[in-house]
Amino acid sequence: MSLTRPELTAILAADRKHVWHPYTPMDEWRARHDPLVVTGAEGPYLILHDGSRLIDGNGSWWVSTLGHNPQRLVAALETQARALCHVSLAGITHAPAALLAEELAAVAPGDLDQVFYSDDGSTAIEAAVKMSVQYHAQSGHRRSRFLALEGAFHGETIGATSLGGVEVFRRPFASVVFDVVHVPVPEPGVPDWDSAFGAVERILEADGGQFAALVVEPILQGAAGMRLYPAAYLAELSALCRRHGVLLVADEVFTGYGRLGTMWASELAGVVPDILCTAKGFTGGVLPMAATVTNQRVLDAFSGGRGRAFLYGHSYCGNPLAAAVAREVLAVYREERVVEGVPERERAIRECFERLAKDPVTSRIVLGVRAQGCMGAADLRDDPRLAVDGPVPTVETTDDLGSGYTAGVGWRVYDEARRRGAYLRPLGDVVYITPPLNIPMADLERLLGIVEESVRAVAARV
Ligand SMILES: *Cc1c(COP(=O)(O)O)cnc(C)c1O
Repeated sequence: MSLTRPELTAILAADRKHVWHPYTPMDEWRARHDPLVVTGAEGPYLILHDGSRLIDGNGSWWVSTLGHNPQRLVAALETQARALCHVSLAGITHAPAALLAEELAAVAPGDLDQVFYSDDGSTAIEAAVKMSVQYHAQSGHRRSRFLALEGAFHGETIGATSLGGVEVFRRPFASVVFDVVHVPVPEPGVPDWDSAFGAVERILEADGGQFAALVVEPILQGAAGMRLYPAAYLAELSALCRRHGVLLVADEVFTGYGRLGTMWASELAGVVPDILCTAKGFTGGVLPMAATVTNQRVLDAFSGGRGRAFLYGHSYCGNPLAAAVAREVLAVYREERVVEGVPERERAIRECFERLAKDPVTSRIVLGVRAQGCMGAADLRDDPRLAVDGPVPTVETTDDLGSGYTAGVGWRVYDEARRRGAYLRPLGDVVYITPPLNIPMADLERLLGIVEESVRAVAARV
């Protein structure tokens, strides 16, 4: 659906005046930029105000595992909406929440079969943090400190921010976050991770009895810049936690639902965490909903009356609309064998990113590349020659975005990709793709072609 000129103007004016955008320096943004105006979406494509299409390279911040507006999920949502939009889970249950929990338990790793619902990745983590602290307190341990990985990202609530290891996100809240020890992660591609592991071992040998949990993004750290670390490292950390009575919390918000080619990234390390958090792909990116999944042993520590119960919940816990969609997501995964389709896409992604590293032109700015599952990333080298100081853009010229917030090599690749019909929002100097797991191969080839041409166009300028 295309917008008329007055409709477009009204939307942009209202946004400019009233919308505070996430992760955005608003003064600079309002002075220089106009947002893309999206009016629809279909499969891997976003549809813009003028009817043009952009292939969504990052799956809308990694949530869109089955593409946009998948018809089966939309139909499940419509059916559920006619029957029951919402009711609290307070002494009440309903088919979507009950049956989803059963179906999630069936696909969750190992003995994880107790499902606590919340709203998004951050609240799933928040629930895991509180669960861990109370679990230990009620098991007779004084364990209230947390371990997390350097470069970790676990969301935006204060608990999740405390766990975070991305300095720019944490810094403004340094005075209010709780005590977390960040442990090293082996550099991507470095097979010898003994020294990283040794550091964690020393911390736990000295103070192991103080730690409630180690929270990890298994194998792939998204916000850190799509960094991969060895599965064997996670396996060793898991064994170490077990020896020291530290709970392992797997944040599968991004990696779950097949992103790395297995339903859960934990499987790649042969690890069964004590607590697993899922969001993003949990509803195929259609509605916000999350779950914190644990085992009977953890739940048992909460037995013994109201004084020992987990007194935690959100208004929309188990929301029937989102739960109905989440059930349909699992049905699509089963019936359309979504995860089984990942290796073919991984091959194409890997070949493309490896070419970027080798090609004489693109390798001028490509420092390193990696690919696993439905994720490919390239670390780029910034260069002063790439600085642009463009005019204040209009919607039609958003590809002339200028300095500051959108400075840097990643944004120059973004501009080039935008011109060629792809949305390729970078993470600093890291250009990456996280398309839907079921993206048709022809669309994937098109996206990869745009990535390659865009990096080449930027590299040719240095
Ligand atoms: C996105 C993300 C979160 C936070 O999820 P929200 O739904 O944005 O709150 C937490 N952990 C990881 C690994 C994520 O990628």
